[in-house]
Amino acid sequence: MSTTSTSDSAATGSTPEDVLRPSTAVDPGDMSEPSGSDVTQSLAFSSGNPGILETRGVMILYRDDIFSSTSQLPVDRKPYLCVLAVPNHLKPQNFCQFCDSFIQHILEMRLVRNDGMGDQYSVLIRLDNQNSADDFYKHFNGRRFSSQEEEVCRVLFIVDVQYAALIEHAQFSSASSMEEPYCPVCLERLDQDMSGILTTICNHSFHCSCISKWTDSSCPV
Ligand SMILES: [Zn+2]
Ligand SMILES: [Zn+2]
Repeated sequence: MSTTSTSDSAATGSTPEDVLRPSTAVDPGDMSEPSGSDVTQSLAFSSGNPGILETRGVMILYRDDIFSSTSQLPVDRKPYLCVLAVPNHLKPQNFCQFCDSFIQHILEMRLVRNDGMGDQYSVLIRLDNQNSADDFYKHFNGRRFSSQEEEVCRVLFIVDVQYAALIEHAQFSSASSMEEPYCPVCLERLDQDMSGILTTICNHSFHCSCISKWTDSSCPV
């Protein structure tokens, strides 16, 4: 509720709260940033299976047209980044390989669809601290996904991610499909204290190291 203590979160080394997970419901009263602000933009997104179990939400991002031109990072930024508009032909495992040099600093990645961007997806990334996030931004923003790719990686700092209520279209797919505590590839637990967990658009979670070994383009689940 308070509007006075918003600026110190970026500087402290404390563990950031996990805004990437739908389970942490965002208190609307915490939102100090109006979504129509001139330094931020809001994008609707979804993940999961439309028609069965779909997660919908809104990501609020610092606009990159302002901050990349001034080469100044948003003052109130947090260790959360969004890689916007990744071409669909870049598979999740390709994306893991792309950011492999930072993988030990990436706690979690979540792939989502943005409304109206059917041939692209976006990746919400939670890093272990602000320095890692800043380094990730400086290293990858504007970088080509590969030497054969025209597309460059577009990195934006996340202001907030707000999840709408889970839209359940069928009652038989209950909570079990929501959070998979085991990696379907290696069958080890997906410990949240561990880094490098990737959640695909179909809402299945893996170790990045495991999905990297998966050469098939379809989901292993
Ligand atoms: Zn695994
Ligand atoms: Zn899947």
